[in-house]
Amino acid sequence: MAPDRPVPPAPLRLRVDHGALAANWRALDRLSGRASAGAAVKANGYGLGARAVVQTLAAAGCRDFFVAHWQEAAALLDIIDPTSISVLHGPATADEAQWARAAGVRPVLNSLEQVARWRAAGGGRCDIMVDTGINRLGLALDALGDPALGGLEIDTAMSHLACADEDSPRNAAQLGRWREACAALDPCRTSLANSAGIALGTDYHGELTRPGLALYGGIPRAELAARIAQVVRIEATVLQVRPLAAGDAVGYNATFVAERPMRVGTVALGYADGYLRAWSGCGMLHSGTAQLPVVGRVSMDMCAVDLTAAPDLAEGDWIEVDYALPAAALASGLSQYELLTLLGQRFSR
Ligand SMILES: *Cc1c(COP(=O)(O)O)cnc(C)c1O
Repeated sequence: MAPDRPVPPAPLRLRVDHGALAANWRALDRLSGRASAGAAVKANGYGLGARAVVQTLAAAGCRDFFVAHWQEAAALLDIIDPTSISVLHGPATADEAQWARAAGVRPVLNSLEQVARWRAAGGGRCDIMVDTGINRLGLALDALGDPALGGLEIDTAMSHLACADEDSPRNAAQLGRWREACAALDPCRTSLANSAGIALGTDYHGELTRPGLALYGGIPRAELAARIAQVVRIEATVLQVRPLAAGDAVGYNATFVAERPMRVGTVALGYADGYLRAWSGCGMLHSGTAQLPVVGRVSMDMCAVDLTAAPDLAEGDWIEVDYALPAAALASGLSQYELLTLLGQRFSR
């Protein structure tokens, strides 16, 4: 039987700065010019918690939300208008098409097969994804003349850029094909840009942009750096403080050996929480202005930090991980997207 007292709080927490999240959406909406900014909230709002993210963004004025899976749409139905939810993977079965109709969400149709499935389920308002060069999902340009597309109620005709975070000639090539597709489909709205695409300028905006990463503090292009604020902060507690003598080793496989007497802190954050082994020997935590480098291997539930810069830190103290996304991506070799979506279930959020 569960004890008659609350479960003690987790030794690690993920703080989401909802003010910064709303401010980032407003900045991206302004940068989208005449287009409105929607929001990609797939993968549980990039790991931050989709429901809380959607509530904040809806209050800020966001009216279009993109998820990948039906389950992700279902989790939002009681907090926003279903017609504002667009499901990117589209209907893979008749059952999925019928669920979309019953729920009132917009499926993104990615192939002639999905178009046929949607029509067979009764049709209605939908979005269309056109492939203009990423070769992932979407109708080919030469399928757009297919009679099955006639009479579809197309809300948004969209495509997705493969290289928007680089200065690549492929961006302009995709832009040209997207324009052709929009002319052929004659939708209510057109949409091409993800976060990075917004920074490529008005040509790329259409009527609706679809930022994800930058809402959550990611910076895929330098042009966005001054406009986007950090949203996610990670903190964990010191479980134990240990004095080391010269020659003592820390962690699995003894990859760190103390050269002098020193203190290390064992911290309640490990790869099961998404703090991957990529951070072994290169991660940084801090307490105030004191920098606390990760020493040795990150293990499943713990890592160790050098406490030289913070001699007063003690068991139970909270310390923060350096997790500003652009710098953290450079330091770890992980992408800014991975750094967000990796974050595990054990954080109190
Ligand atoms: C994930 C996704 C986005 C958001 O992309 P970011 O790079 O995170 O801004 C936009 N459109 C589609 C189709 C997506 O899958």
